[in-house]
Amino acid sequence: MAGSDMTSEALKILVVSSEITPFAKTGGLADVAAAISRYLGREGHDVRLMMPLYRRVSEGGWALEPHEHLRDVQLEFGGRSFAFSVKTAALPDSDVRVMLLDCPELYDRDGPYTSDADEHLRFALLSRACLTMCQWTGWAPDIVHCNDWHTALTPLYLKAGYDWDALFARTKTVLTIHNIGYQGVFPADTADALGLADHRGLLHQDSLAAGKINFLETGILYADALTTVSETYAREIQTAEYGMGLEGLLQARAESLVGIVNGVDYGEWDPSIDTLIARQFGPGDREGKRANKAALLDEFGLDVASDAPIFGVISRLTSQKGFELLPDILPVLLREYDMHFIALGSGDEKYERYFQWLRDQFPNRVGFYRGYNNRLSHLIEAGSDAFVMPSRYEPCGLNQMYSLRYGTVPIVRRVGGLADTVQDYDPVTGEGTGFVFDDFHSQALLHAMRRALACYRDRHAWLRLSERGMRQDFSWERQGRHYVDLYRRLLG
Ligand code: ADP
Repeated sequence: MAGSDMTSEALKILVVSSEITPFAKTGGLADVAAAISRYLGREGHDVRLMMPLYRRVSEGGWALEPHEHLRDVQLEFGGRSFAFSVKTAALPDSDVRVMLLDCPELYDRDGPYTSDADEHLRFALLSRACLTMCQWTGWAPDIVHCNDWHTALTPLYLKAGYDWDALFARTKTVLTIHNIGYQGVFPADTADALGLADHRGLLHQDSLAAGKINFLETGILYADALTTVSETYAREIQTAEYGMGLEGLLQARAESLVGIVNGVDYGEWDPSIDTLIARQFGPGDREGKRANKAALLDEFGLDVASDAPIFGVISRLTSQKGFELLPDILPVLLREYDMHFIALGSGDEKYERYFQWLRDQFPNRVGFYRGYNNRLSHLIEAGSDAFVMPSRYEPCGLNQMYSLRYGTVPIVRRVGGLADTVQDYDPVTGEGTGFVFDDFHSQALLHAMRRALACYRDRHAWLRLSERGMRQDFSWERQGRHYVDLYRRLLG
């Protein structure tokens, strides 16, 4: 397929990820792994994508085909032998096929992630099997693109276990850090089981001395290039406040670290073609937006005729997302203003309980759906007027970019990717795309929400603000190019 990058040689790129949309998704990682692969495929590169065949995927009704060359492959490490096969499935809206690593003894379990005693092995197998797959199919990847801690051991494995194989002589590795809050830390005595008994000298010695093996840290040591998902986050993770203990190592590798803001898959997240919402709409079509607002209010049993602004939330409910700023201010706002608040999410029980409590206190104004629901996430983007992301830290964040496209004005903290993608609204010049606050403090969020409520009253100003957001472009066509440039730089 011809693409803009086809003036140069097509690359062989292996993308490895613990989750890929639509097969398994707990967060932005899944969306990004799928979207970047789709982009690379469109640009004519030879891209292979690998993730585990979790139980939910094998039972999910996908059309899976056995890979003819990858059946009952034996992979030995750490004194154990693992038998795996590979099944493939089409990545929707692309020519790319996803390779699903079938090893029931490790992946035939309830969720993609577990707290089982062999969690380290589940992802060590993925990190090695992707290389074995290359060997069995005689496919020499130019780039192995790893994502987060789950696949962060691959660069070390390549160095320590596969260096004899000329197939990988030219291969370079990239590790993308989607969230440094998850590092995959296991006891040091797992080194043997991970197949690293003879390579302890290559592990981070301070961690080893402290009795730990940190997968992400190991990846940061050995990947040829490191990326993270926004420029601001690339700077932030080199500081003690955001680096979660890895700041020193990241400073040491600063020259190999770049920030590339995630793109948005507008094939999936664009209100003019979205089939999961009540009515499709684009900039200028206020009736379309209004129809979605009514559908959203109806969905939550709220007054469908209301014109009061809806503040939406779609999120994993973890301390990262900053929802502890809400209890101090939401009841105040809900008493003071005619407004709605609608949240979708699950996670830490204390946040779930809080949103349930809030709904019980304001049954006519608050909606809460506990759980994961893709259709509803699209409807909330389409039907809300504003979207609240008060994150404590946010590597990139996708929902603020989805919100912009759906004419839903984001209210965000100036941190990580939120700082890079939302510009604060200036009522004097009329410039900006959302409401941005700095301090991680409920009063700062309160002030931003009050500014939004004041702006909402000025219908003309609000429409201009919302439509400016809809015209922003965070497509992979723009962002994907940065990855290809990076790959080419690495390959010289
Ligand atoms: P993170 O990766 O930290 O969770 P992002 O904003 O990068 O945050 O990506 C979150 C993705 O997960 C978005 O696509 C969002 O719509 C989706 N999501 C999060 N929680 C839910 C939920 N409860 N139901 C449906 N989608 C959700």
